[in-house]
Amino acid sequence: MSVHAPIRPAQRRALTVRLATPRGFCAGVDRAIQIVERALEKFGAPVYVRHEIVHNRHVVERLRSLGAVFVKELDECPDDRPVVFSAHGVPKTVPATARAREMLFLDATCPLVSKVHVEAERHHAAGRHIILIGHAGHPEVVGTMGQLPAGAISLVETVEDAEAFQRPGAAPLAYATQTTLSVDDTSEILGVLKRRFPELPDPHKEDICYATTNRQEAVKRLGAGCDLVLVVGSANSSNSVRLVEVALRAGAADARLVDDADQVNWSWLDGVNVLGITAGASAPEPLIEALIEAVRMRFDATVVEDDGERETVAFKLPRVLTA
Ligand code: SF4
Repeated sequence: MSVHAPIRPAQRRALTVRLATPRGFCAGVDRAIQIVERALEKFGAPVYVRHEIVHNRHVVERLRSLGAVFVKELDECPDDRPVVFSAHGVPKTVPATARAREMLFLDATCPLVSKVHVEAERHHAAGRHIILIGHAGHPEVVGTMGQLPAGAISLVETVEDAEAFQRPGAAPLAYATQTTLSVDDTSEILGVLKRRFPELPDPHKEDICYATTNRQEAVKRLGAGCDLVLVVGSANSSNSVRLVEVALRAGAADARLVDDADQVNWSWLDGVNVLGITAGASAPEPLIEALIEAVRMRFDATVVEDDGERETVAFKLPRVLTA
């Protein structure tokens, strides 16, 4: 809730707003949302969605208002309605069950997550044991671990886990990572693993995706020069939470995660001269625009857009929705 009411123009103090580039939607999120929207257009409501399609409260609420029904597991869906699997990916048992029930299912797994699945399968087929760097319980980690039989993948979450990891048996090792991790934390963890297991490939090619990497680079550029960085995103969005951490580590005096402008406590801006704004990969641009508008109502704001990477990545929709 806002704690300060809008201020009359004459009383507004100057504030520089630095807007990160790139920010907000990535190609995988854009595709996943379009899959639900197109499925609703083509098949009518309700369309079931297993897990939040992307981790953003506003996106989920909007799709729900259009007729999407969000469920935790497939057994909550009827056989005769389409079901969409979220962008984070699913264990292999999920499409197998849907197939056995002859359900119409649409897989919105981001192609960059699918790429990690394929790599994990390749390592497994070559007889390697896989170390997955990621967060326990995150749906992407559950999905990646669920590509292979139990015991084929060991999860490592922290530097301490990397130090404690024991190779099960004599199999050679390989690694994979969640796509939305902190680039710096991950290279630290990989550094430990590489020191302990020199056979591991050099930590040059993590699976952290282009969108996560670019947004972290952008917020690093903002970080040092900002008194406060506001990250638009939901608390369950891994890449958004990482942006707050990266901003603080880059030197921002303060950094906060907000779902939208209504969650800003305007007292956070007391004494702030330079405000940074960015958004996680699942946060829609209109939320950022509304936040800037709310800032303008309270400050004599000069908005400067950072000069960052312009992204052109786009992913195709499943053919059943485009035919
Ligand atoms: Fe795909 Fe990366 Fe976006 Fe996740 S953050 S949906 S992996 S592009």
